Amino acid sequence: MKQVARQARDEGRIIGFVPTMGALHAGHLSLVEAARRDANPVVVSIFVNPKQFAPNEDYAKYPRAFDTDRAALEEMGVDYLFAPSVEEMYSAGFRTTVNVEGLSDRLEGRVRPGHFRGVATVVLKLLEIVGPRFAYFGRKDAQQARIIRQMAADLALDPEIVVRPIVREGDGLALSSRNAYLSAEERRAAAVLYRALDRARRVILAGERDTLRITETARAELAAEPLAKPDYVELADADSFESVTRLRGACLLLLAVRLGATRLIDNLSIELPAAGDGEAICSL
Ligand code: AMP
Repeated sequence: MKQVARQARDEGRIIGFVPTMGALHAGHLSLVEAARRDANPVVVSIFVNPKQFAPNEDYAKYPRAFDTDRAALEEMGVDYLFAPSVEEMYSAGFRTTVNVEGLSDRLEGRVRPGHFRGVATVVLKLLEIVGPRFAYFGRKDAQQARIIRQMAADLALDPEIVVRPIVREGDGLALSSRNAYLSAEERRAAAVLYRALDRARRVILAGERDTLRITETARAELAAEPLAKPDYVELADADSFESVTRLRGACLLLLAVRLGATRLIDNLSIELPAAGDGEAICSL
């Protein structure tokens, strides 16, 4: 992969890179489309990264669909599929980790200790191997995207980090490889994440700026769905990921919710003038 990428760069070509864990869906493919527009060649990686799963998490049963993924990428005209083995990525004696301090300990990082260290480590390695001009990430994993941006800035990485919108199902559920775990009943119930964010969006658009009242609105919607067990419902500053008491500047309303054994995350992006007054722009 390094050799192929180096040659493409030597020829003056612009590499676009989409890192994934496979079991591809329209969310992943939207990143591939963005890469297609900006770059040539396009490289997609599929690597289920053991370092970002805790021992009690779903690494072993994480959905794997290599043949259908490969066909979908071929169909989209992706130039290179990079699918290293765990042994290639982490040889015996592998010792280096990347930790983006502070940002990695909150929200997802608090519930999943070590998760973002695994993510940052693998993403840095993949970026080093592929050497893209542009690397694409989804806002569905907003904290991950923020951490990768911070890593890229701190370590003066060359690739430009591009963050793309959330792709959703008809009922609003954000596409996720983990949706495959849901039973029919849980799948129906899972739309409550979107409804909770949408209700919060509507109260914000009606002028509410108090974050407690906004998160209470989202919590009330989640509470109406007996199958949904919230892990957190938090309004955080989009830069620091610290919780905020009044909306101002760029914020995110972040949800993590359990449906049976499956844990789903989603978020609403809110942008206001720095002082907090004026119209809010909300993106689901
Ligand atoms: P994953 O395979 O879950 O590691 O995801 C690979 C990339 O796809 C990450 O940058 C995700 O944020 C992004 N992604 C996952 N789901 C979606 C979605 N529904 N919409 C947009 N991007 C997504």
